[in-house]
Amino acid sequence: MTSCTKCQTEWSFKNKAVTLKRITGELKCPYCGEEQFLSKKAQLQMGVSNMIIPATMLLPLPFDIPLPIHLPIILLGIAAVIILNIGLVKLSDKREYPV
Ligand SMILES: [Zn+2]
Repeated sequence: MTSCTKCQTEWSFKNKAVTLKRITGELKCPYCGEEQFLSKKAQLQMGVSNMIIPATMLLPLPFDIPLPIHLPIILLGIAAVIILNIGLVKLSDKREYPV
């Protein structure tokens, strides 16, 4: 569940997808207009999930998987990361930096 820290309105999947596109900047709640930020925990979790992409690129190497099979695996990995990241969006009322 991802809700605005001010008006407590739950954000839809679409709201969160828009959030990802502006991951570095500030976000505004589409319901009350209050500024929202991506929480530190969400940023860390996304950082971990993003590692799926290089993993899908390197994983087939030891198995000598041909490119026509390798390529869809990479694309699948990227799609999985995008969906995963949208699910991981958590909001904070102040700017947080993952350290
Ligand atoms: Zn709000």
